Amino acid sequence: MSETIFAKIAAGSIPADIVHDDDRCLVFHDVAPQAPFHLLVIPRKPIVNVAALGPDDESLVGHMVLVAAQVARDLGITGGYRLVFNCGRDGGQSVDHLHLHLLAGRPLGWPPG
Ligand code: AMP
Repeated sequence: MSETIFAKIAAGSIPADIVHDDDRCLVFHDVAPQAPFHLLVIPRKPIVNVAALGPDDESLVGHMVLVAAQVARDLGITGGYRLVFNCGRDGGQSVDHLHLHLLAGRPLGWPPG
C-alpha cells in the first residue's frame, strides 16, 4: 500500500499544524475545517481504519480518545464537541489512515449527512 498523506505527516515529511505529539499519536488541525474547531487525532501506527483494528490496538484507541478530550480541554472548548471515526467509503472516509475527527465550536446537527 502506498504511504498516505497522514503517514507522511506522522513521519514529518510534510507539514501540518500539530497541537499534540506523543509516542503513539499526534493531533493536528484539519486543512479543510468543517467547524470552528476541527482537529484530527491519528495514530503513528499505519492502521487503515476502525475495521482494520485488532485486539492489540485496544489501548491505542483508548489513548486517542483520551488525547482528544485533553486537546479539547487545552483549547478551551467548553460547549461540547463531537468525535467521529469515518470508516470506509460509505462512512465518508477519504484518507486510508485511521483518524478521529474532533469537531466543535458550533451546534452540530443530527443525524449527520
Ligand atoms: P475523512 O474524510 O474522514 O477520511 O477525513 C479526512 C480529513 O483529512 C478531511 O477532513 C480532510 O480535510 C483532512 N485532510 C486531508 N489532507 C490533510 C492535510 N494535509 N492536513 C490536514 N488535514 C487534511
